[in-house]
Parts: sequence; C-alpha cells; structure tokens
Amino acid sequence: MTEKRVYTFGNGKAEGKADMRNLLGGKGANLAEMNLIGVPVPPGFTITTDVCNEYFEKGKEKVVDLLTAEVKKSVEHVEKLMNCKFGDPTNPLLVSVRSGARASMPGMMDTILNLGLNDTVVEGLAKKTGNERFAYDSYRRFVQMYGDVVLGLKPVNKEDIDPFEAIIQKVKAERGVKLDNEMTVDDLKKLVTLFKQAIKEQTGKDFPTDPMEQLWGAICAVFTSWMNERAILYRKMEGIPQEWGTAVTVQAMVFGNMGDTSATGVCFSRDAGNGENIFNGEYLVNAQGEDVVAGIRTPQQITLEGSKRWAKQQGVSEEKRAAKYPSMEETMPEIFAQLNEIQDKLEKHYHDMQDMEFTVQDGKLWFLQTRNGKRTGTAMVKIAMDLLAEGEIDEKTALKRCEPGKLDELLHPVFDKEALAEARVLTRGLPASPGAACGQIVFFADDAAKWREDGRNVVMVRIETSPEDLAGMSAAEGILTARGGMTSHAAVVARGMGKCCVSGAGAIMIDYKKKTVEIDGVVLHEGDYLSINGSTGEVYYGEVKTKPAEVTGDFAKLMALCEKYSKLVVRTNADTPRDAEIARSFGAVGIGLCRTEHMFFENEKIKAMREMILADTVEGRETALDKLLPYQKQDFYGILKCMDGTPVNIRLLDPPLHEFVPHDLEGQEIMAKEMGVSVKFIKQRVNSLSEHNPMLGLRGCRLGNTFPEITAMQTKAILGAAVQLKKEGFNPMPEIMIPLVGIVNELDAQEAIIRKTAAKLFKKEGVEVDFKVGTMIEIPRAALTADLIANKAEYFSFGTNDLTQMTFGYSRDDIASFLPSYLEKKILDVDPFQVLDQDGVGQLIKIAVEKGRNTRKNLKCGICGEHGGEPHSVKFCHRVGLNYVSCSPFRVPIARLAAAQAAVEE
Ligand code: PEP
Ligand code: MG
Repeated sequence: MTEKRVYTFGNGKAEGKADMRNLLGGKGANLAEMNLIGVPVPPGFTITTDVCNEYFEKGKEKVVDLLTAEVKKSVEHVEKLMNCKFGDPTNPLLVSVRSGARASMPGMMDTILNLGLNDTVVEGLAKKTGNERFAYDSYRRFVQMYGDVVLGLKPVNKEDIDPFEAIIQKVKAERGVKLDNEMTVDDLKKLVTLFKQAIKEQTGKDFPTDPMEQLWGAICAVFTSWMNERAILYRKMEGIPQEWGTAVTVQAMVFGNMGDTSATGVCFSRDAGNGENIFNGEYLVNAQGEDVVAGIRTPQQITLEGSKRWAKQQGVSEEKRAAKYPSMEETMPEIFAQLNEIQDKLEKHYHDMQDMEFTVQDGKLWFLQTRNGKRTGTAMVKIAMDLLAEGEIDEKTALKRCEPGKLDELLHPVFDKEALAEARVLTRGLPASPGAACGQIVFFADDAAKWREDGRNVVMVRIETSPEDLAGMSAAEGILTARGGMTSHAAVVARGMGKCCVSGAGAIMIDYKKKTVEIDGVVLHEGDYLSINGSTGEVYYGEVKTKPAEVTGDFAKLMALCEKYSKLVVRTNADTPRDAEIARSFGAVGIGLCRTEHMFFENEKIKAMREMILADTVEGRETALDKLLPYQKQDFYGILKCMDGTPVNIRLLDPPLHEFVPHDLEGQEIMAKEMGVSVKFIKQRVNSLSEHNPMLGLRGCRLGNTFPEITAMQTKAILGAAVQLKKEGFNPMPEIMIPLVGIVNELDAQEAIIRKTAAKLFKKEGVEVDFKVGTMIEIPRAALTADLIANKAEYFSFGTNDLTQMTFGYSRDDIASFLPSYLEKKILDVDPFQVLDQDGVGQLIKIAVEKGRNTRKNLKCGICGEHGGEPHSVKFCHRVGLNYVSCSPFRVPIARLAAAQAAVEE
C-alpha cells in the first residue's frame, strides 16, 4: 500500500484524478477531476480506501495516529483556500464529511454536514454571515446528524419516528407552527439544547465541543458505516467486494441554506428512468442537501419543462405551479444557465450520463459531486444507443456500457392495455422508476421480506423510504411513497435495483400503526392488492393484468449489435411451443434442450406414463408406450414447427421415475383399478422404484438401456413428427440427445436403437429427415473420455447442473442444508449451481472440448445447464470455444449481450 493516505484538491488543482477511483473512491476521484477541468468545487481532501482496510485491521486509535499529521496539513490547506479557520469563533471554517466507495452506493453509508460548530463558533458564524437564523439552523442540523450517525441516537422500534424528528414536532406543536421555516431563532436554539439532552440521556454521551474531536469522530463513523447492515446487504446484492473499502472526503462547507439566494439540488444530464436526453433535476431554495434526498420537503424542478410536466402529473394548475413551485430556470435564470453549461461539459467529459449534486451559496454555484448516474435497464439501453448515435462512444463501448443482468427489467411484463383501460386510477405520484408492479400492500421492510419468502408479491407502501428499507425494497415488486421527489432515496435506489417505483404520491395517507393507507376515499389494509405504474406514476385499485414484454426500439438495436459481435449463438431450453415462441421472439436461434419428461404431467399422459413405469413386462410397457406415442408425436410436432428451420435438440427421457408414481393409498388404488392389477402389486412396484438419492438412480440413458422400447417410442415420436412436417413443406431440424452417458458403450447401445428405429420409420413413410445424434456431457467420466465418446456423438451439450453435482459431490436436492453457511464463511464465493465453477467444472469442460475435437474436428459443443444464461459463465463458454449456450427463454437476451461482451473484451 502507498504511504500517502490523504489527497487534497481545491482552486483548480488536485493531487488525484478521475482514474484514481480505486484509491479515492468515485466521489474523491471525481472531485479531483472536476477541479482539474475548471468546475467550481469547494476545496477539501480525501482519505484513501486503503485506510478503510487499515481501520478494520489496526483499529481506530492506530489509524488516527497514522493520519494525524496529514489530516492537520490538509485542514490547513482548506483553511488557506477558504480564508477562514477551523474552530475559529470569529471566522470559522465548517466542513462536510462524506463516504465515497469505488462503486457508488447511494445512501448506504453516512454523511455529516456543518462540522466544526459549537456554542461559541455558532455565534461567530451568525456574526460573520449576519444571519443568526442560518447559523442556528446549521447548528441544529449538525447536532442532529452527528447525534444520529456518530453518537447513535436512533428510533427504538420500527413504528417510532426518528427521536430528533419527535423533538422537532414537539417544539413546533408547542409554538403552534407547522413548517420548519416558521420556527424562530429561539426555537432553533431550543432544539439544539433538547437534542443534546436526548443524546446524553439515551446514549450517555456528551456532545463534543472541540472541532478536531468532532472531525475524528465523523471520519471514524464513516469508516465504521462501511460495515453497517444496509451497506453489507447492498454490497451483497451488487456484488461489491468488502475489501474495496470506502474513502472519506472532507470538504469545505458551502451553504444552500443562507436565505433565498441560496439553494441546493441534484440533477441528471439525462433521464435516469427512461433514458431520454433531457437535462433534469430538483432543487430547494434555502435548504441543505439532505432535504432534497430525504424526501422531507417536496423539491421543485430545475427546468421549466420539467416543472410543467411535474405539475401535470400532480394535477397542479399552471398558476399554482408558477406561484408555489417555480423551476430554477425561472427563479435563478443565471445560475440555471451556468448549471446547464457545466452539466453538459461533465457529460461530454465522461461520455456518460452524469448524476450531480450542487449548492448555490448566496448566488454562487458550487458542484459537490458528479458520478455516472445509476439508471434503470430501459435507460441503460437507450442512453448507450443514443450516445452511440451521437458519436460520443463507439459500438464496443456501447455494448460494454450495458449490464447483461439489467436487461432482465426489460423483459418483465408490462400492464395489459385493455386491463389498464378498465382499471381505476386512485391517484398519481411521480414516475420514479419504470415498470408495472402489482401485489399485496405491506408497510414495513421486514414484512415485505417475510411475505416475499412466503411466495407472495408485495407492494411496499411508505411515507418515505430510508436506507434501512433496502431489504424490503428488494423483496417488493414495487414501491409507493407519499413523500419525496425523483431524486429521493426511494427513487434513486429503486432505479438502481430496477424496481418499479412511484414516489411523492402526496394524496395518500398512511397510518403505520393501523397498517392502512387511504387513497381517494378508499381505505386499503395490509394484504389488499394495489397496482402501480412506475412509468406514468399512476396508482391503481386492486390487481391489474400484465402481458409479456417485447424486443423493439433501442432494445432491438442493442440486440442487433450483439449479433454483429458475438461468436457464440444463443439457443433456449424449452419444453413447450409457447416457451419456444417467447424465446424465439427474444432472439433464440434454436432449442438447446427440450426435456421430454416434463411433457408427461398432464392428465391422460400421466396415466399412460405411470402405466409404463409400473408395468413389469415388456408387453405391458409396450401397451402403455403405444398410448404415449401419439401424445409425444404431437408435442414434438408443435415444437419443431414453431422452431422451423432451426435446430431442436430433444433429450430422451431422463426422469427420476419415483416422482411419477402415486405414493398415496388413494392414488395407488386408482392406478390398480385402471391397470387391472392388485393394490399390493402397485405398492410393491412403487417401493422397488424408491431411491435414496433419486438424482443418481435409474436416470438418463440407464433407463433407455434398461428398457430399450422407451427409446424406440421416443425416436418414433420425434422423427415421426419431423416426417409429417417435412411432408407439409416445413424444414424440421431435430437433434436427438442421449442423457447421462458415462461410458461410450451406453451411447453406442442407444444410438443403435435410434438408427434402427429411424431407418424403419423412414422406409415406411417414404421420406427421410436429416437428424443428429448427440450426447450430454454431464458425468465427469464422460468429460475425461470425451475423445472416445466423440466417435459416436455428433455433438456435445454440457449438462452443467449434473456435472456440477457430480464434480463437487453436492446433491442438487440438499445443497440448501449447507450452502448459506458455506457462503457466509466464504468457503464458497457463489452458488456453483448458479455461477459456473471455472476452476473445477470448467476444467472438465475444457478437457472435453479439446478431446472431443481431437476425434471429430468440427464437433459442435454447447451448454444447456442453468449456467447457460448466467453472464460470467457465458463469457467462460465463449473463451473455451463453445458454439452455443442454451438458457431459459427470459435469459436469452442476457446471454446474447454477455456473449457479445465476451467477444469485444477479447
Ligand atoms: C444438466 O444436468 O445440466 C441438465 C441440463 O439436465 P437436467 O437439469 O435436466 O438434469
Ligand atoms: Mg442433467
């Protein structure tokens, strides 16, 4: 690690720059960069992310020791540039202390503003600014934040309101006023005293008066907040490693609460919700930063156009809007012009949509932060395609800008137009994060998580959200809040998560104690259904029907780009024509796995299937198979027709047989009657089929080799359907796949049955259809002897579900009994059934591909385990030279993007 622990910036100079984000965090690196490109930024310094790791290794005292000299020097640097002094009662410097990780984690860690105030300094600040109200407002905010973050005064129960907020409400009630700005200077002074008293009473701690002691408390609290519960949860969800740590930035305060010529705000260079190229944002006059994001006051729009749109959504008349909620473009036109110019400059500098924070202090504009803005999946795609069209980025960059996993949001259902036309609109809020959500109402984050676990869809309804609500937001289908604007915590976090969110629906009245919400005269209780549209801000009564999404517009453009660059193609795992159709509409170019055992579950079919399984003679089985043949043929006909002209890889039966037979007495009696045998016989057969570990029993080709007539029937059904389609003028391309092969002899025996059956069928029908016979590589022995297997197999498909099971020796059925503990103890980094284990299972794949292609040069290789739709695994498949991946229909676009990225990352 470097010895330098602190990097300063200010007045157009900086020790850091944009590409030092690993060391300085995103915020620190960008503050440095903004200085270098001439954006007005208050001076300050950043303590590195390495120090965060030292803090957790060596402890607080040691780290304070190590930092003291550098921090002191850096404070002097800021004092010099600001021409004032930290702790000086006549000319005081105040600072903010903020976290800043390498990857942005909005609202997850702590921030402290106005640090450096005490009973004497506040007087000095009042004199210096001639604004006693501002000085005491800043002081009460400081005591409130510091008391919460550093000294730990928090609500005791989830239904309780914040203890500081409770004191504010009490003081307001005693004075008979409603708004913050109706409080007098004496009220603010009283708040400071009451806050300090409450802190002392409940935490036993005295509020520190020495500014340097305050500063160390705040720096350490920010480091500590790296390990708070919500930050840990957020990192887990976003895959951010703990070792990255957070930096701490200490910066001279500029004040947005110095009166009507001051303001604070947040803005985006494009729309983070839908991606439109429209500068937008929110501001509040005479306020500090947290007022905008906390959702306590509803902020106003920066642009006139945005303001007018907001008023329309909220049902506010133009007259009222102009008088009560004017835009910054109207109230501070010169500042607005500067802001607009700088936002454009920053976007062009970073070639990406920027999310910026600013403060106006007494008519002067300062930037406090810029970062690449979090955005929804829709916005991600639109912005990448627009920046490409504008010539700001090239095609490869556009592909890399899109996160494959985030495409999932674009595949979610949207409200059905007809259902929407009938739906009753209860109210409107702000369209904070797009999408359609429908679910049962819950009011608390822990309930949302619990209900979700029980398999229920929920909509979380809150007055406003705070970072504590993260787990609930993640569990909910959507979030509805009564307060807060487009940049409130709820909105920013929901967009980051790709959750549908309607914020600032002012007309809803929530009672947490009764667990009710009243909207437009309707009282809804916990558990009642509600639907919300995050794209329009509309809130609907009850359940509104949804329909599947489509690949059109920018999404289609992105997919075309994927096709241009990828080498891997993407097929789908589908067992029904419906799934196949969805996958085709998402761009799948064939079926990589059609599991036939799923076709037997419907009524008549299950009966014949059971009869086949329970029969104990070849004749008995053949009678049952004759009943199954037409059903199977019909199923294959549907799928081959739907996938006309593309390969369809159909796997022969691979059933855990015991799952198909009746285990209850009633079912066994019915079965006995249908088959004309005794219940005792059925019982015996069911018992003989029971397996201790069903995942390794009479499965795959072991079944077809034990009962060859099953393989013959399935071959007849597949090729019979193909012949019929060919006669009808279609171009079926069936592939017959033999599962769970471990020894080439198993494949040999199955292939012989298939070829013999095919020859007989083609002769009888007078038509031949091209087809291939391949195998799954899902047993380690098959991978290791792939050269022999390739003598017979015309293609390989890696069944990485079973291959993982057998390589690790973890049963697919009972991994849940130890996986959580393994993940927690970091014995495993990830679930190997979700993300391919490249070192172990991946090595087997590599070996098999190499050996297989030694025997058969152009052997086609694919993957059809669950990993085929997981971006990291797809990239691995590209690197080892597979020809295709196959995944469930809704993951097809994700796999297509990952495949293209793998190609451009080469
Ligand atoms: C596999 O094992 O990876 C596979 C695709 O087959 P199944 O999941 O049906 O065992
Ligand atoms: Mg398998």
